[in-house]
Amino acid sequence: MSTIVWFRSDLRCDDNAALSAACATGERVIGLFLLADAQWQRHDWGARKQQFVWRHVLALRAALARRGIELWVLRAPRFSDAGQALLDFARERHGSCVIASAEYGADETERDVRVAAALAGAGIGWRLLQDYCLLPPGSVRTREGAAFKVYSPFRRAWLELVRVDSPSCMSAPEAGPPVEPPPLPAWEPPDATLDPVWWPVGEEAAHDRLADFCTDRIHRYNVDRDIPALDGTSRLSPYLAVGVLSVRRCLQAALAANHGEWDSGSQGAQIWINELIWREFYSHILQAFPAVSRNRPFRPDTDRISWRQDEADFNRWRDGLTGFPLVDAAMRQLSATGWMHNRLRMLAGMFLSKHLLIDWRRGERCFMEELVDGELAANNGGWQWSASTGTDAAPYFRILSPERQAVRFDSEGVFVREYLPEIANCSRKALLKPGHPELLAAGYPAPMLDTRAARERVMSAFRNAGIEAAEDARG
Ligand SMILES: Cc1cc2nc3c(=O)[nH]c(=O)nc-3n(C[C@H](O)[C@H](O)[C@H](O)COP(=O)(O)OP(=O)(O)OC[C@H]3O[C@@H](n4cnc5c(N)ncnc54)[C@H](O)[C@@H]3O)c2cc1C
Repeated sequence: MSTIVWFRSDLRCDDNAALSAACATGERVIGLFLLADAQWQRHDWGARKQQFVWRHVLALRAALARRGIELWVLRAPRFSDAGQALLDFARERHGSCVIASAEYGADETERDVRVAAALAGAGIGWRLLQDYCLLPPGSVRTREGAAFKVYSPFRRAWLELVRVDSPSCMSAPEAGPPVEPPPLPAWEPPDATLDPVWWPVGEEAAHDRLADFCTDRIHRYNVDRDIPALDGTSRLSPYLAVGVLSVRRCLQAALAANHGEWDSGSQGAQIWINELIWREFYSHILQAFPAVSRNRPFRPDTDRISWRQDEADFNRWRDGLTGFPLVDAAMRQLSATGWMHNRLRMLAGMFLSKHLLIDWRRGERCFMEELVDGELAANNGGWQWSASTGTDAAPYFRILSPERQAVRFDSEGVFVREYLPEIANCSRKALLKPGHPELLAAGYPAPMLDTRAARERVMSAFRNAGIEAAEDARG
């Protein structure tokens, strides 16, 4: 008999709960990855994300083969095909059980319910383990037993729990006699360039990046993380999103860098751990409130807002031609690299949803199509935060000003010059002043809107919809 590990968002050998559980059965272990390309398209996965996943599937297939484990890659284009694909696969290989780690989107949850039923009908076991988060969604509750809707109390409760029972890491399975990697289906991901310096492939590369970040930069993270021109953050998000690296390894490395301290010692390490908790929070929200997977706002009252549908304005934002240098440089960074600095994600998100009053779901989809780290929980959480429709939503009257953000976080114009070559030779003063004659002379567009008027417009849209301002927790 054999035990089948169905790899999904856990494309790694190291610290993988499903793989470890399968190896502990003593049965032959066989890996499976289902190419759900039609479903990925429905979920707006862009070419970069598909390339990143595909390259890591190939790397995992090779790494498992070296350990004596076959990883089969089969096409099952839609989630609705998964049940039959697994059933056939398990029958052919005398599978006694399929083990996978949970994913929390509504479609993924539905898929797994169907898969479990199909396997049960054939007498094949099904185990769904919780491996994506440090604490399983559903396990962090208010005193009344409800899911948290606000980050700060969630964080407090999360820390209390995690300190009592700090999750430990599992080693990769022992190397067995190597096997030939099984044949691949005739499938190629859509073409996309993935800069190998930005996004090297493989678990080792992710571990090196984590180690490098935690040696030094983590201690300056509290300051450097807000400066987009610096390499001040870890850039581990794509590896975490597809599970090339476990979040437990990240927490362990951060705690080791901070001598085991959670809330004293290095400010940078503490704040970085907070970001990992934001990741937890949004995954917990996704699981507890499936409506957010279904294009619904977290706050139903915000459904009453009349968002603008303006294709030309949307395109100017997407193409980085708003006339606000920091917003445009952010959007060009996204299209050039598949990644955007967090501060700029907030700024670009607010510019679209607030200054332009365009439906945040258009921005969410655009980010998903472009990001190499595109991930439903964090992307949806970030967009709903920016649009003031979500948990901890910024009160709608708090709108990041593109000019002030540039003065605070790119005052020398280093970042803007890197991504907007057409104005790289303009003076610092000009870069900080949208519409400055030097910018216009360089052929750069005039600002597409008056920020004061735009602010008035969005405030009245929220007021007219009868929306109460929520408390802000992100600052
Ligand atoms: C509008 C918007 C959209 C976003 N879309 C995504 C997305 O699709 N995928 C994604 O992984 N993150 C998303 N984020 C969150 C955040 O911007 C990125 O996780 C971060 O910029 C990734 O860079 P890093 O790995 O260097 O992060 P670091 O600063 O080094 O943080 C470490 C890790 O913590 C997690 N993290 C950090 N900030 C957040 C956050 N605010 N919410 C959830 N997790 C966080 C990420 O896994 C990240 O890799 C979005 C934020 C906004 C405002």
